[in-house]
Amino acid sequence: MSFGPLILGHRDPEVAESLQGAIARGWTYGACEAYSLELAEHIIHRIPFLDKIRFVNSGTEAVMTAIRLARGYTGKDKIIKFAGCYHGHTDSMLIKAGSSVAMIAESSSKGVPAGVAQDTIVLELDDLPAVEAAFAAFPNQIAGIILEPLPANNGLLIQREEYLRGLAAIAKKNGALLILDEVISGFRIGFGGMAEKLNLTPDLVTYGKIIGGGLPVGAVAGKGEIMDCLAPHGGVFQAGTLSANPLAMVAGLATLRQLDAQFYADLETTSNQVGNILSSWLQSFSEAQLDRYGSLFWINPGKEQVRQVSAIPANLQASFQPIFSKALAAGVYLAPSGYEVGFVSRAHQAVLPELEAALNPVRH
Ligand SMILES: *Cc1c(COP(=O)(O)O)cnc(C)c1O
Repeated sequence: MSFGPLILGHRDPEVAESLQGAIARGWTYGACEAYSLELAEHIIHRIPFLDKIRFVNSGTEAVMTAIRLARGYTGKDKIIKFAGCYHGHTDSMLIKAGSSVAMIAESSSKGVPAGVAQDTIVLELDDLPAVEAAFAAFPNQIAGIILEPLPANNGLLIQREEYLRGLAAIAKKNGALLILDEVISGFRIGFGGMAEKLNLTPDLVTYGKIIGGGLPVGAVAGKGEIMDCLAPHGGVFQAGTLSANPLAMVAGLATLRQLDAQFYADLETTSNQVGNILSSWLQSFSEAQLDRYGSLFWINPGKEQVRQVSAIPANLQASFQPIFSKALAAGVYLAPSGYEVGFVSRAHQAVLPELEAALNPVRH
């Protein structure tokens, strides 16, 4: 499922048709065109807490822009992020908690300058007092809190609702922005993602993956007052030669148009069925359990719900390898890492009998 974008499955006919139409007309103009306006209006009309949206080329770019915007809007430099959340590969997000002094972070990739790490604070998920402590330690210096409201890049770390509400309240109290990175969860956990499901009101949201229907797109969206700080209206620079290119815009629109209430109800049914088949299979030979949230699932090596990445056993890859190989031998391709989640698409409905026959031949 290409790590998330293909919620309709491969080669959806409506997406293919709109792509062919766009190719026949021309695929980049570098000028305002109708495609991105149509996609923007479609999204803004359906997600009540968004006033404006800016299209970029990837989830990474969306996060990079959201962070610059948070800093530009608040006039503060530091950003809080959480261990276990992934936000793409912009320098300021390739940062992990340092081993020595509390709250001194270090880069998690070669090539990221130490100076960049100084402005990123890395905390554990599911720990509100740690967030309070960070605001106390750096008064008036924190521009925003960024997190995946449904962390799905290091296992599936389903958060408590009170925790997410607590973060929003702490951010607000301290004049910092709440940035929800919904690059995976947006348009997957319902159209408006986790924010809509839990009725959270983020200041900024980042999207990617599904929003481009399988072509390269990302977007940052949010409150008008904040979005207006982006160039050319405001002083926070952002640009992109191929941003909002027509192919990505029409593929995104042709995808999002199909995502109505009935679609999400059917996807939940399909995901439940896929989950049951995988669970029975796992139980037949392994200690691992299947954790599922909507159309996302994760093979959890233990029996407990995990909320912090530090609770995932360090030898996860060793225990996952035989599970991966066994699935592959049966003709089922799981994501090739124990830390990756699986994605269910609409297309899986048609292959449920095949999946059952491949994994649970006796039961079948
Ligand atoms: C995939 C992902 C990104 C990065 O998106 P790219 O398009 O790969 O740059 C950022 N945040 C989250 C939550 C993601 O899952």
